[in-house]
Parts: sequence; structure tokens; C-alpha cells
Amino acid sequence: MKITKIEAIPVKVPLKPFLTTKTAHGEHVDSPYVIVRINTDEGLIGLGEATLAPRWSGETSQSCLAAMNQLIAPALVGKDPLNINVAIQKMDQVIKLNPFTKAAVEMALWDLAGKAAGQPVYQLLGGKVRNSIPVKTVIGAFLPEKVVELTQYFLDQGFTSFKVKVGLDLERDLERLDTVRKTIGSDMSMGIDANCGWDFSTACAALPRMEQFQLSFCEQPIQIGQHDAWKELRKFTEIPLMADESVFSVADAWEICRQRSADILSIYPGKNGGISRTVAICHLVEAAGLTCSIGSNLELGIGSAAMLHVAAAMKVIDSERFPADCLGPLFHEADLIQQPLSLGPVTAELPTAIGLGVELDEDQLKQWRTDI
Ligand SMILES: [Mg+2]
Repeated sequence: MKITKIEAIPVKVPLKPFLTTKTAHGEHVDSPYVIVRINTDEGLIGLGEATLAPRWSGETSQSCLAAMNQLIAPALVGKDPLNINVAIQKMDQVIKLNPFTKAAVEMALWDLAGKAAGQPVYQLLGGKVRNSIPVKTVIGAFLPEKVVELTQYFLDQGFTSFKVKVGLDLERDLERLDTVRKTIGSDMSMGIDANCGWDFSTACAALPRMEQFQLSFCEQPIQIGQHDAWKELRKFTEIPLMADESVFSVADAWEICRQRSADILSIYPGKNGGISRTVAICHLVEAAGLTCSIGSNLELGIGSAAMLHVAAAMKVIDSERFPADCLGPLFHEADLIQQPLSLGPVTAELPTAIGLGVELDEDQLKQWRTDI
């Protein structure tokens, strides 16, 4: 089999007006992403999704299209789509970094490999260790009135696990946590994500004051690359620390494992540059005796499916203790796939059809396609 064409299709899908999010990085109101379709000479088509966010990885839909059309497609057209290892090598040769762009191509190749083998992707990863993946929802860094409304909305939907965005103003952060904990009661699980928003001294002051809210983790309290500060921070709190912005590459994960600067590594194919590299991080983290959790960039249907296959296959992704962020489609006006994924409220169910197990919805694609 040979790759005949790589199509990169820009889309812009808004979040539902009530479900836009706000973090220390800014507001997320719509998603300018790129859908990737890899065509082959045998008629099989692989699907991928690049969930681009300039404030996150430095990539935009324009940069993704340029990388795809000018560098990646010329390097891969005519090659064997089933040799994913060579495709990864070729992408790395023609362009550095750009994890979300490369992940879209790589997940499309896994989709193709599954379709060619007549197997779901999790089977190609060695089989599943779980059928359902516990999930959590997220409450943005809003003021108390909106926080109450949002929390009550998710409770009414049946959610039992929550992550609250903090890292802006400490007193407001405390007020928000108090509001959510009072609304959900003492039994439900709750963690926080500061998205690099605190400096070291603010984090040292914040976390001991937040222990009263029974937090199961604190995600990315401070900036990336400050391993000594992360280790020092442990002296101030018992709350387990989760690295998210700190772990894009396998090398990033290695450094965290070596330094033991976090307890949990938040990972997913987009941020890590593809399914294979998320799996590589899993093996590394397992060997180091640490834990992984599925993070998110608010994916649509294809990107979410890729996350679920990895989450199902990798034991070290401990979604039972640290539920996955895998609710992107529920936050968006459209998911761009024919059959919606089953994503909650308590557990997401693994798609079991061949490949990634999802099909592109051409009508939705037409509706949300954009010119850039
Ligand atoms: Mg995060």
C-alpha cells in the first residue's frame, strides 16, 4: 500500500456558549483545528485531527497547513502508510517540534493500520486492559456565580469527578474551590489545574491553604523546566503534583522521571506528537514507578478516539485514580464524526470498530470548514 494524498482541512468549531473555558493561559471560545485525511492507492483512508492552540504549542492552523503541504506531505506521499516508525522519522527530519501537526498524521496512520488489519487500534497496541475510562469534567476560572451554575449543570448531567482551573488570583482561586466543594459535597473527587499561573512563592502559599478542599492532585502549579522548584514545593504540601505543560516529549518525561519532580504525568497523543510517543512515555513512567493521566486540549471526535485507545491499552494511565480529561466533544457545537463517542458522565466507553473506530461526518465537515 502507498500513500497517494494527504489532505489537511482547516475547521473552526465554536464551543457551546455556556461551556467556553477560561484558564491562566486565557479563554478558549472556539477551536481552529485541522482535520487530516490520508488517502492510499488501495482506497483505505486514515483520519487524524490536529488540535492547534498557539498559546499551548506555538502551532496555528496556518502553520499546520504550511508544515503539512510544504514539508510533511512531500516526504510521505508514495511511502508505505503501515510503516509508522519510518513516517515518524521522516516527519522529524523535515520539521522540528510541531507535535500536534505530527500527531494528526501519525494517528491517521494508526487508523489506516487498524483498518488494513481489520482491528481496532487498541488491539494493535497490544490489547486493552480496560473497557471504560473514568472521566472528569472541568470548571473554568470564572467568578462564583458562573461557577455555581456550571457545577450544578455538570452535577445534573451526572458527573462525579471535577477539575477546577486556578492560577490567576489566589483569593479568587480559593473562593472558587470553596464554591465547587460546597456544591458537589465531600464525596466527589476534585483536583486543580494552575496552568503555570503561579510563581514558586505563590504556589508555596496556595497549596497548604487549598488542602482543606480535599484535592486529589494539583496540575502544573508552576512553570515548565523548574525541576528543583517542583521538588521544593513538595515540602509545602501533601497534594500530589501532576505535570502537564512540562511534558510534551519523551525526553521531557525522562527528565521528570529522573528528577522525580512530579507524581503524575498528564499525557495524550496530540501533545506528545502521536500515539507511539504517548506509549513510549507510558513505558518510561511505568519503569520509574510514577503514574500517568490522560490530559486534553479539548479535542473533537477523532482526537478523542485516539486518546481512548491509548487510555484503554496502557495500564500506567491510571484513570481509575486520576480520571481522564476526555470531554472535548461535549464542549463543542460539533464533533465532526458520524456516531458520537460515549464520553460520560462517569466513564467513556472505548470505540471497538476497526481503526480509531470513528468516521468523518461530511455534512458537519462542510458546515465547520473554514478558509484560512
Ligand atoms: Mg492541564
